[in-house]
Amino acid sequence: MTEAMTDAGAQLSLGTGVQISGLGKTFRVAGGRSVVALQDTDLHTDRGSFTALLGPSGCGKSTILRILAGLEHPTSGTALVDGKSPDELRSVSELGIAFQDHALLPWRSVWKNIQLPFEVAGRKPDRNYVEELIALVGLGGFEHAKPAQLSGGMRQRVSIARALTLKPSVLLLDEPFGALDDMTRQNLNLELLRIWTEKPATTLLVTHGISEAIFLADRVAVMSPRPGRIKEIIDVTLPRPRTPDMMRTPEFHELADRASELLFGADGRAEAEA
Ligand code: ADP
Ligand code: MG
Repeated sequence: MTEAMTDAGAQLSLGTGVQISGLGKTFRVAGGRSVVALQDTDLHTDRGSFTALLGPSGCGKSTILRILAGLEHPTSGTALVDGKSPDELRSVSELGIAFQDHALLPWRSVWKNIQLPFEVAGRKPDRNYVEELIALVGLGGFEHAKPAQLSGGMRQRVSIARALTLKPSVLLLDEPFGALDDMTRQNLNLELLRIWTEKPATTLLVTHGISEAIFLADRVAVMSPRPGRIKEIIDVTLPRPRTPDMMRTPEFHELADRASELLFGADGRAEAEA
């Protein structure tokens, strides 16, 4: 039995969404110093829900995602998704990851990049599904193009498609559109919503964009500066499907004001790092 399973509270929530309890991560850096990136962080989300992690730069957002992806190991606490540890999730290929740096293989075509997870998992590529994904992200006609021949937005779409290749039940997105201009970003957010509606997954999206977080998510977890903790969770009461005109409603502005107040304080000044 794992530690989490002996806890009656955790047992009730096993099998549902992201379950982060008492998570801590301290990095040792040069000169024997250490950086406390996360301390006693808790986050619980429902299976199939879309959660945005919103917080200032350096508060530990990527560290949370990297721990969930099994790329870092926590110093303390536990992180489970749908009742599985990150390593278990990876071994059963239930994890789709897209990070800001698209990390496509430059010598492979769009098709071959999207097909890659099948090869990594040692499975026979499902050609029909690769084709379906290419259509889903609107890249029909670009199957044979190499990443260098694509725009930044197109490359990010390839990376989202690749995250979906194995039909993962968990999607971890770390500022996937962070490096793009506002218009491209807004278009890709709309596409992301459409894709997520068609292929629901327990999703955790890291962003530092307030509007983006509210527009996309069921719940927005606002983090405090380093060492990162979840400060408050905002329930986004806007109905689905979400449409861009909702961003101009009083309800949206109210939610955005609340998030902004949590991030920057009532006087508009960001809280200093601890
Ligand atoms: P965010 O994604 O919210 O901007 P990160 O999770 O990337 O923040 O980083 C949180 C803190 O941990 C930062 O202070 C960062 O410098 C530090 N950090 C992250 N990764 C490492 C690492 N591998 N080694 C040392 N420090 C790190
Ligand atoms: Mg980051």
